[in-house]
Amino acid sequence: MSSERRDRAVRAAVEQGLLTEEQPVAALLDVAGIRTCAAALRDAFAAVTDAPVLHAFAVKAAPLVPVLALLDDEGIGAEVASPGELALARAAGVRPERIVLDSPAKTPGELREALALGIAVNADNPQELARIDALVRSAPSTSPVGLRINPQVGGGAIEALSTATATSKFGVALRDEGARESVVRAYLDRPWLTRLHTHTGSQGVPLALMAEGVAAAYDLAEEINRAACRQQIDTLDIGGGLPVNFASDDQTPSFAEYAQLLRERVPGLLDGRYGLVTEFGRSLLAKHGLILARVEYTKTSGGRPVAVTHAGVQVATRTVYDPASWPLRIEAYDAKGRPRTGESVVQDVAGPACFAGDLLAEARALPPLEQGDVIAALDTGAYYFSNHYGYNSLPRPGVHGYTTAPDDTVRFSVVRAPQTMAEIVAESGGAQPDALL
Ligand SMILES: *Cc1c(COP(=O)(O)O)cnc(C)c1O
Repeated sequence: MSSERRDRAVRAAVEQGLLTEEQPVAALLDVAGIRTCAAALRDAFAAVTDAPVLHAFAVKAAPLVPVLALLDDEGIGAEVASPGELALARAAGVRPERIVLDSPAKTPGELREALALGIAVNADNPQELARIDALVRSAPSTSPVGLRINPQVGGGAIEALSTATATSKFGVALRDEGARESVVRAYLDRPWLTRLHTHTGSQGVPLALMAEGVAAAYDLAEEINRAACRQQIDTLDIGGGLPVNFASDDQTPSFAEYAQLLRERVPGLLDGRYGLVTEFGRSLLAKHGLILARVEYTKTSGGRPVAVTHAGVQVATRTVYDPASWPLRIEAYDAKGRPRTGESVVQDVAGPACFAGDLLAEARALPPLEQGDVIAALDTGAYYFSNHYGYNSLPRPGVHGYTTAPDDTVRFSVVRAPQTMAEIVAESGGAQPDALL
């Protein structure tokens, strides 16, 4: 989001009382920004292919029903990887033909439900294919079914998010001894296996490597179709994984850049013979969300200023545990929500949790923060506040969508209400205090 739009939203959030003593953390989602981003994704692929393309948002990036409904309104479906994510997509009204089920650990019950609903399923491995064999024999299904392969093209800068390494847990490792032949055989044995899936993400993986993974899947699809003497594979699911720029407001790389790269690198993929599925998550939401938190205290420690805020590991889990991989930009505002100016000083921005590493930013140059100020953690629309971590029984913050009217007034709507103390007690065994007595 632009810094102007952001500043206006922060100011309005403070003025409209979204941040209080009881609710010292609030998350904001820029509705117009999400819509613009969804349109950019659609346009990027429409510019390179006439084939049907289903863009399925990776629900884990922002598992919030109103977000899924907003994206559905923009023509974007849902990629789900658990019964919970499927339930969210259905609650958002996403139609079965726009839902794709992935996950390396689907149970027989999950597979049965997916096949009964007619949602697309990507099998992870041969054992799962065998389960699907039995299920489709007993009850014919309209679900398009694919197999996930790991092209083993290598990892990116963040090991934990690299899905296409030699030993990744995902999919069939295509370069392993005998794997390619057995995948081709698996397709020839199953005329209903009509899709092929790969996801060479995520954050930290360069575009060229992503394209190499897609190219490997395309080459395999061509090989299978030649062996089958027909176009058995009619759709390639190329996954998500477009990296996000956390260093500035620029949206780079863009969906258009990636689509153009695919056109150069894998032209056959886009010549109309194959339908496409994409599964972008972070790149659709990250830059359209932010976390606001009140500064409760300021102090100095070892001579370094420290601002103790209410946002820490519970909403920025990856940043706190792996700050080198997940640095977040922090903006400083005063108690009225106006941007703080003034000579920057090097300071720590700490969270509320009881361990020393709970820092949103360490040794960061920011205008001097004061008690009662507000900090904003930027680019947190994906995988941050929506993926809350329950440490210290800290509540899930409220999430508020906002739109700006032509006269610059900002309107908020509740996407997710803040978690209540009663809910925290209830989910922590509060109904059975005597269970261990
Ligand atoms: C997580 C995931 C995605 C989305 O990745 P992003 O980096 O958020 O775009 C897509 N597909 C699969 C199978 C995933 O596991």
